[in-house]
Amino acid sequence: MEYRTLGRTGIRTSCIGFGGIPLTGLNGEEALGVLTAALSSGINFIDTARGYKESEELIGRSIADRRDEYCLATKTKVRGKDSILTEFETSVAKLKTDVIDLYQIHYVNTKEDLQGVLAPGGALSVFRRLQREGTVRYVGITGHNPAVLKAAAETGEFDTVQGAFSYIEKGEEVIRLIRYCKENGIGFIAQKPLAGGALLPAEAALRFILGHPVSVVIPGMLSVEQVEENSRAGDGRVTLTAREEEALEAVASGLGSRFCRRCYYCQPACPQNIRVGVILEFLGKAERPENLSLMRRWYAGMPIKASECTECGLCLPECPYELPIVEMLKEAHELLG
Ligand code: SF4
Ligand code: SF4
Repeated sequence: MEYRTLGRTGIRTSCIGFGGIPLTGLNGEEALGVLTAALSSGINFIDTARGYKESEELIGRSIADRRDEYCLATKTKVRGKDSILTEFETSVAKLKTDVIDLYQIHYVNTKEDLQGVLAPGGALSVFRRLQREGTVRYVGITGHNPAVLKAAAETGEFDTVQGAFSYIEKGEEVIRLIRYCKENGIGFIAQKPLAGGALLPAEAALRFILGHPVSVVIPGMLSVEQVEENSRAGDGRVTLTAREEEALEAVASGLGSRFCRRCYYCQPACPQNIRVGVILEFLGKAERPENLSLMRRWYAGMPIKASECTECGLCLPECPYELPIVEMLKEAHELLG
């Protein structure tokens, strides 16, 4: 396993990290197996979030007794002082730890949200307080909009930035962001590297990312086999063979016209408040048969379903990828509802 430095934190992390979202689909025994396999394969960066349902608890129950073997990152989407402190206490308890290595302000997707985070008394000031108290070592930010993340990076306030980067989400904005982070000592954590499992072969998709100056890439892993496959991509070879490149290109071009990048530009336009990007992400993930029942469960938990769409069409001009959102929402509801 290749190890890289997580920006100015100086922490040496395995270039393949562990993305904690899919743990929510596993039982305690399965989670233990997958997490143990991850540590055994040299993975030492575990990323989770308060919002990933049982993920934190499964990590705590499975590997808290090996806490000195991994860098632990979690995050919260809440912004108010009291709610952050409450969420933080819950995270620490579930993860069975005293210190969070990297605490991230989660899901900052608009300039307005970023301004609020940075404002006096905003979320960042609460994170700083936790840092002063010694329960948080470093502070990061996550989001889906590379322009907003770049603006966040430029403030110099964050030790890490976490954003989507993959063979099909490799636009100029995200490449500039990654370069900026590298040049300024900010760790870049690449999330959604397999586009929710749609981008295969996984090993090639991960090698593509590692050919860029990211610190760590965090694919989700549902089985020991997936841990092994993902770990192989961290062996230091970051140049794709012609055959790997061709295979990725074939999958990517198949996804192109129907793949939601979760940029959320369409979101404010929807009078029904449908979380289009989230529902379409579930739809994309459900294309892998082994993900279907989990996606149905996640969809069942959404308060506003795709069936609330009135077909008003207001979202359509907002989508830079010209996706047929209305049809895709119908498809999602039929498959997942
Ligand atoms: S077409 Fe549907 S998803 Fe799009 S804005 Fe209208 S109600 Fe929302
Ligand atoms: S539907 Fe289009 S605008 Fe909406 S989140 Fe997906 S890619 Fe972005």
